Amino acid sequence: MHEVGITRSLVEIAEEHARTGGHNKVLSVSVDIGELSGVVAEAVEFCFEAVVRGTLLEGSRLIINRIPGAMRCRDCQQEFPADNYTLECPQCGSFMLDFTKGKELQMTEMEVE
Ligand SMILES: [Zn+2]
Repeated sequence: MHEVGITRSLVEIAEEHARTGGHNKVLSVSVDIGELSGVVAEAVEFCFEAVVRGTLLEGSRLIINRIPGAMRCRDCQQEFPADNYTLECPQCGSFMLDFTKGKELQMTEMEVE
């Protein structure tokens, strides 16, 4: 489960932010997890409590925002829901597609004391 390592680095980043700001307790952290990021949100949720034990985040609340996947077509500029198996634009059939959403994995907000 590589989510343990991911959760650990999220917690480290949050701790560093809190320390830099002179805080010694984190109350909650918000994390964006894209549905196409390869990270299972449930697994992050599951190991969070164990990972934060003994850190500034112990007892804090984890708020996960799941971001559905989306792509934009370079040819017709249409943006549409997509997953890792989407190959062509549903509007014009082009293969020139870029992910616009769904690959996120980042901390967006943090509440400190
Ligand atoms: Zn298109």
